[in-house]
Amino acid sequence: MSGVVIVTGGSRGIGAAICRILAARGYAVGVNYAQRAEAAESVVAEIRAAGGRAEALAGDVGDPVAVGALFTAADRVLGPLTALVNNAGITGDVSRVDAHEPAALERIFAVNVLGTILCAREAVRRMSRGHGGQGGGIVNISSIAARTGGLPGLTAYAATKGAVESFTKGFANEVGGEGIRVNAVAPGMTATDMATEEMRALAARSGVVLGRIGEAEDIAEAVAWLLSPAASYVTGTVVTVSGGR
Ligand code: NAP
Repeated sequence: MSGVVIVTGGSRGIGAAICRILAARGYAVGVNYAQRAEAAESVVAEIRAAGGRAEALAGDVGDPVAVGALFTAADRVLGPLTALVNNAGITGDVSRVDAHEPAALERIFAVNVLGTILCAREAVRRMSRGHGGQGGGIVNISSIAARTGGLPGLTAYAATKGAVESFTKGFANEVGGEGIRVNAVAPGMTATDMATEEMRALAARSGVVLGRIGEAEDIAEAVAWLLSPAASYVTGTVVTVSGGR
């Protein structure tokens, strides 16, 4: 595989694993981050040390102006985009719905839903054959929470992932004829900073058939497959990677 990919939230956790695997498979990788530049630079250094190509790219995906600047920077330092992984996401406050603050709700939807759609908008403007591009692939990172309703206190988060999955299907319908495939990966509990000890314990008790939580690499493998020519007939679908939960 070759081409240029932006991985939002590529500096830590699942996003960092996706950056590493796509770089190893020949992509030049834009490692996006919101706040921790040093984490993104460390992923970039690791990829370069292994002989790959990567650049750290700042940009809060919940901010429309920053999203525009992120893609413009990628054009400049990486070249024509051929793939996007909408991975950046936050859980927001762990809270019952009756205790939610409106501003916190707006923020989680801004990052998880609007961020995904705004980045997809920028990507299609570059990749669509209708816009003079060469086609490409998009993978959105959802969660099994879209189906289960989420762990206690994460109902709003689950709702954002439901929106991500609906968007995945609709957007795939919209751009399939322009050479762009759009899919989602729905991880179960995965060992990253996002997964607190309490969340991991709850997930362990809720029936993971394979008896362990996921590793970031488990999720990254599915993303790499969806972007690869091996998945050239796959679009508008959600691949669940959850150990059977
Ligand atoms: P994580 O360890 O918390 O890492 C989050 C990454 O996203 C970091 O690189 C962070 O960069 C970046 N980020 C956060 N807010 C951002 C924003 N507004 N704009 C751009 N980047 C932003 O998370 P993770 O566990 O790897 O989760 C990655 C994705 O998988 C998310 O969409 C999450 O919902 C989904 N997921 C995770 C699990 C799980 O159990 N871990 C399960 C199902 C689904 P900074 O450090 O610079 O903020």
